[in-house]
Amino acid sequence: MTEYRDGHLARALAETLAREADPHRDYRIMEFCGGHTHAIARYGIEDLLPRNVRMVHGPGCPICVLPVGRIEDAIRLAGQPGITLCTYADLMRVPTPDGGSLLRARAAGADIRMVYSTHDALQIAETEPERRIVFLAVGFETTTPPTALAILHSKERNIFNFSILCNHVLTPPAIRAILDNQDVAIDGLVGPAHVSTVIGTSPYEDIAARFSKPVVVTGFEPLDVLQGIVMLVRQMNAGRCVVENQYRRAVIRGGNLLAQRAIADVFEIRESFAWRGLCEIPYSALRLNDRHAAFDAERRYGITTLPAADNPACACGDVLRGVRKPTDCRLFGTVCSPETPIGSCMVSPEGACAAHWTYKRFRDRTPPGARDR
Ligand code: SF4
Repeated sequence: MTEYRDGHLARALAETLAREADPHRDYRIMEFCGGHTHAIARYGIEDLLPRNVRMVHGPGCPICVLPVGRIEDAIRLAGQPGITLCTYADLMRVPTPDGGSLLRARAAGADIRMVYSTHDALQIAETEPERRIVFLAVGFETTTPPTALAILHSKERNIFNFSILCNHVLTPPAIRAILDNQDVAIDGLVGPAHVSTVIGTSPYEDIAARFSKPVVVTGFEPLDVLQGIVMLVRQMNAGRCVVENQYRRAVIRGGNLLAQRAIADVFEIRESFAWRGLCEIPYSALRLNDRHAAFDAERRYGITTLPAADNPACACGDVLRGVRKPTDCRLFGTVCSPETPIGSCMVSPEGACAAHWTYKRFRDRTPPGARDR
């Protein structure tokens, strides 16, 4: 791992960037993935970039983009007798506009349990047949294959007290929605790493061509990210807009075919899905197909998501679209912090506000000239 964190190599890449970045233009690069947002903040990568190479946070944190109405669905469901709702720890802390959360619903008596995987939820279903277990499934293409496998296993083993509340979303439609949005000025994209291990690099090819934006898929280590930025700057200098793969040790063009088959076996694409900050995006999320309807909590429990407005003081929507930075929100660091999150971007470590709070809030106080290389 140390080979991807070598300080000498990082400085050499920073010098390459300083040499090759054209001082007469700006390079606005969106990192779509929350894992990259976290890595960029954690390793201080922005401090190594020339002033005219700027990173823009994208909507790639799965907890952040889940609309609050879906959390309220889960809270209502968990309140029904006999139901056990299983989910990840971060989701339990996402606040609703009325001050609720899954954590508070648990404190009020609902059976809500924290799990580390879909498999854990399935095991609870197997060992507690008298309970009806619902797994609150979220995430991009990275976490979808384990959910698909859990459904296939529960079918094979006749575990019918198990179902999922499916909120799995798709990366390429969200990237298209961002690039369609005239508010957001982006010159190129750092393509997601884990997502691309599943879907490969080919789904970004039409995006690069249609929007004339280069895409470079990179890993999460600091040298990966820096090298990806060098590759993007070189494409922009040359006027090229293609997909390149910096993360060849894990990603191939076609992706993981076994994982893709499991997803196709279990899921179908929803006609539309609401994303926090991005509104409704057509064909951007998954639901269980008819063959697996028995495991679909939405159908089993007749769930209809009600529209729910975000807290009007919270700027999460703009942060997720890359229109504003976390520090542009007036709640940042005052009433909103990881201990007392007001918006979803402050909950998960991959959220832009949480990453900024954890790694950059003290650097913000440094006088700008003091950080100049
Ligand atoms: S600081 Fe808090 S309220 Fe403001 S955008 Fe970030 S998460 Fe939302």
